[in-house]
Amino acid sequence: MLMEHSVNNPSRIPEESLGPSDWPALRRLGHRMLDDMFAYLQGLRQRAAWQPVPEAVAAELEQLLPLDPMPEEDVYRQFQRTILPYPLGNIHPRFWGWVMGGGTPLTMLAEMLAAGMNPNMANASHATALVELQVLKWLKALLGMPPEAGGILVSGGSVANLTALAVARTAGAGFDVRQEGLAMGGRRLTLYGSTEMHSSIQRAVEVLGLGNQALRRIPVDSRYQIRLDGLSQAIEADLADGCQPLAVIGNAGTVNTGAIDPLGQLADIAAEYGLWFHVDGAFGALANLVPELQPKLAGLERADSLAFDLHKWPYLPFEAGCTLVRDREIHRRTFVVRPDYLESDERGVAAGPVWFSDYGIQLSRGFRALKVWMAFKSYGVHKLSRLIAQNVAQAHYLSDQIERLPSLELLAPAPLNIVCFRYNPGITSSEKLNRLNHELLLRLQESGAAVLSSTMLEGRYALRCAITNHRSRREDFDLLIRQVVMIGNQLVEQGWTAGAADA
Ligand SMILES: *Cc1c(COP(=O)(O)O)cnc(C)c1O
Repeated sequence: MLMEHSVNNPSRIPEESLGPSDWPALRRLGHRMLDDMFAYLQGLRQRAAWQPVPEAVAAELEQLLPLDPMPEEDVYRQFQRTILPYPLGNIHPRFWGWVMGGGTPLTMLAEMLAAGMNPNMANASHATALVELQVLKWLKALLGMPPEAGGILVSGGSVANLTALAVARTAGAGFDVRQEGLAMGGRRLTLYGSTEMHSSIQRAVEVLGLGNQALRRIPVDSRYQIRLDGLSQAIEADLADGCQPLAVIGNAGTVNTGAIDPLGQLADIAAEYGLWFHVDGAFGALANLVPELQPKLAGLERADSLAFDLHKWPYLPFEAGCTLVRDREIHRRTFVVRPDYLESDERGVAAGPVWFSDYGIQLSRGFRALKVWMAFKSYGVHKLSRLIAQNVAQAHYLSDQIERLPSLELLAPAPLNIVCFRYNPGITSSEKLNRLNHELLLRLQESGAAVLSSTMLEGRYALRCAITNHRSRREDFDLLIRQVVMIGNQLVEQGWTAGAADA
């Protein structure tokens, strides 16, 4: 299938590169792409929040490996026809599923500039690395970490949690866990967080070899905050059993309901037992940018490590997350490996104050720092803070509307930006309500009017609205409510509450 090349006799064929053969043509195409993309972003509100990929289009996206070049214009036309119209929808003003940001037009340009420069952010004697050091310093200041703390930009919250918990393992194992592996210890290392912890914490402890069973899931109270008595009891029980408690994990904004654990009290308990205190603040930590919300996060500044995203609340394009570690030395000690081919120098290209590869699991790394830098410079903290506050106010607005309507039921307190509710025309069967609301969610998504996702709260199926969307307006939530009630009423008319649709 593959063509024979003249590896042994290269002089027989002209040399080539992947640069365009026709610069003016690519430049024209690039300008058109930019114009098209701006028009697309400007017209988002006129589009459906989501639409399924038609079968014919899906079939077109399954093609043979291209062996020969296709004109760039044609490739772009295929993108426009088969890919661009059928996205996940998270940049739409009425997308509130899971927890997703939508990016911004300016940071789209930042991504282009970063890709154009295409530096490798493994080490740091370059202006691009100084940009990452700069944004890390800003983020530390915003989230209550000292300027000398360790930090690194990563792909997202999951890797940020993994990175932080790897440091916790180094710090608390009591032996050289990197050298010896976990088998050395003999005692099970245990970690503690609430039942509302994000699944990425489980994945992190599994990947780190600590085992899912080592993750003690402490019950929550009616506000979905960790129960402190339960936490102390679990630690005491483990100590009595010969386990070795390692870390307490606090949630700053749980994924289900946006609950914030009492971080100050968690820090106290961690200190009392000499444990690492990690905070998963994927989106919630960013609420610290809003002065009115800071009291809810009191204690965040006492975290040994903090994981958060920049592609949720400060609305940056995927991917961007961050790990901060109070003790830079232990952070570095967790990851540093310097083979001969990665020696740093006093001068020259391999000099510089820091090698980012010493602080995480990646060696080659992209320039995601640029979009963070451009966003903070262009928007300023005050505007980002106002937008986060606006999202929280929208969640309150939505909760109020839900509470005012007899056919809607709020299923959990909404302290931050997540509202869990259901349509309930006055039925008592929990099973019927769950089925009804599941169907309602699917019809809402398929209508293209808005996207919510779902969760289960104490056996109750909840429509879940997570607002990390700078494009949403209050009228969008009015539309959501109208649409939910309309679809709910339709389902009642179609017999979904009577059991007619049970089969
Ligand atoms: C989204 C989220 C994560 C995972 O972050 P990713 O960026 O999706 O990897 C972790 N914790 C919480 C609370 C989250 O909301």
